[in-house]
Order: sequence, then structure tokens, then C-alpha cells
Amino acid sequence: MNLVGLAQGVLAGERRSLAKAITLVESSRPEHREQADALLTELLPHTGRSLRLGLSGVPGVGKSSFIEALGMRLLARGHKVAVLAIDPSSAVSGGAILGDKTRMERLSMDERAFIRPSPSGGTLGGVADHTREALLLCEAAGFDIVIVETVGVGQSETAVASMTDCYLLLQLPNAGDDLQAIKRGVMELAHLVVVNKADIDAAAATRAQAQLTSSLRLMGMSHHDSEAWQPQALRCSSLSGEGLDEVWQAVRDFEAQQRRSGHFEARRRQQAERWMWERIEQGLRQRFARHPAVQAALPLLSSDVLAGRVAASTAARRLIQLLDTPA
Ligand code: GDP
Repeated sequence: MNLVGLAQGVLAGERRSLAKAITLVESSRPEHREQADALLTELLPHTGRSLRLGLSGVPGVGKSSFIEALGMRLLARGHKVAVLAIDPSSAVSGGAILGDKTRMERLSMDERAFIRPSPSGGTLGGVADHTREALLLCEAAGFDIVIVETVGVGQSETAVASMTDCYLLLQLPNAGDDLQAIKRGVMELAHLVVVNKADIDAAAATRAQAQLTSSLRLMGMSHHDSEAWQPQALRCSSLSGEGLDEVWQAVRDFEAQQRRSGHFEARRRQQAERWMWERIEQGLRQRFARHPAVQAALPLLSSDVLAGRVAASTAARRLIQLLDTPA
């Protein structure tokens, strides 16, 4: 593979080169991994200049409609928009939430936008890893808004929040008065909660917005950082476009506030560091499991632990020491 040509293509903002580069970082072949690392290192100085927006919500809440409507508005304002996805089910089924071509039809046809389905295969950690790398590549290709989408199931929200600057949760207006059983953990990740489909029932949307506002306020009272962002509840219709400008303004306000307080850069640094440690732990675990000396000693030592003949801590220490024996 001509890596220099590929890097130049990405930097020139060519969508085909970008797609190829993402395919390279998603490959599990060791020689591709080496090339992918070389490419990422080459392009890293050109990354970091986008606003990374995370988005989640249950299936049917209107994520793709929202991204399409907001995305078209952003293109009209001169932005370049990339959309990535993390689909936890793709790890099992190989399917992808963005695989359906009818989603975001107008956005996907526009030269100034780039849409990439969720990587498939492997664990959620692996899928998230590839998406993080794809995000960097999109930035190198000059996309200044990168949206990372996920469905509201499993641990994928945490993964999206851990790679984005601003995390937006989409909600339905009429799903009952009990906050639609939103998982508290997800609410705590959100900087903005947006009630979509406000056109269907304006009164219900207003009610939902008011409820969300008061719960976010209650949750916010446990923070004692005066510079912390107070999460907001908004409403919009991805169908009529009503409220979308206000949502975007809130994202920009959030960004400005975070930059002023230094939280923006601090969050990114923390994310990068945490990502590195995740990869180290994952890599060490793999090396451990594959090491011949460990594989040879493991069955006996673990049966010793189970039978109470060797303490678990002693067994662990012995196994870890085996890593030093040449493979
Ligand atoms: P996703 O599964 O979260 O990506 O949801 P979709 O964007 O596919 O939307 C699910 C359905 O809701 C589609 O039929 C959309 O046309 C519809 N929808 C999305 N946003 C709105 C909205 O703001 N108002 C109305 N009335 N319908 C919407």
C-alpha cells in the first residue's frame, strides 16, 4: 500500500482516501496494523481541530433524522460534517446501524459530508477503538464537526462519551411522566438532553422539557464545581427543523464555556490517557493469554487455586512471572 499517497489523499480531504484509511485501521491483519499506526502517526499533527459531538437515543427516537437535518444546516453554514457510529450489536451480528443507505440520504450524497457505518466484529472495546481512530482520520481530512452516534443500549453510550467533547441525548416527548426510565448513568453523561418530535404534541414536549430541566438541575446540585457546565434540556423537531438552531447554539455555548474554563482541553487529555491505558491493559491481557508458558501452566495452577492448594495471589504472581520466559 502506498502510505504516502494515502496520507496525502486524506489531508486533501478526498472521501475515497478517507474511506480507505478507515478500512486500514479497522483491519485485524498485523501488517495492516503496522501501516495503520504509521499512517496515524503521520496524520496526528493534523487532528484535534474538530468539535466532537456524541449522540445517543433509543431506536426510533429520530437520531438519523436529527443528524440529517442538523448536518444539512451545518453544511449550509460552511462546515464539513463527518458521521461515525458505534453499534454494539454489530460486534455480534456484523450488522451496522448506519449500513442502511436510506438513512441520511441527502447528507450522504453531499461532497462536504462523510458517513461511515459502525465497524463490525470483535468486542465493544474493539469497535470503539476503531471508531476513535476513524475520528482522528476524519479530522485530518478537514471535517470540523464529527458526530459519533450510538443506540441507547448497553455500554456504548459510555464509549461514545469517552471520545467526544459534547454528549447529546435525544428523548421522545410522550413516553410517560417517569422520565422514560432513562438510565441515570446516561443522564449523568449528557451535556444536553433534547426532546425530539416536538411537532407531534407540543404540550407533551413542553412538559417533558420541564421535567428534564428539573431533574438535570437536581443532579447538577451534587456537583460542587462552580465552573462545571449545567446540563440543559431543549426541544426540537427533526422533521420541521424547529428548535435545531437553538440546539446548535447550545452546543456552541457549551464549547465556549468549556474552552474558557479549561475543561475542554482537560477532557481531551484525560480521554487520550484513558484510551492509552485501555489499550495497554487489553494488549497485556492478550499477550498473557497467548504466551506458551502461561498456557502450559494455567490449567494446573488454576485447579490448585480451586482446590485450595495455592493462594490465588500466589498463582497470579507465578503466572505473571512466566511472561518473562522467552516465548
Ligand atoms: P433512529 O432510529 O433514532 O435513527 O430514528 P429515525 O431518524 O430513523 O426516525 C424514526 C422515525 O421517526 C422515522 O419515521 C422518522 O421520520 C420519524 N421522525 C424523526 N424525527 C421526527 C420528528 O422530529 N418529528 C416527527 N413527526 N417524526 C420524526
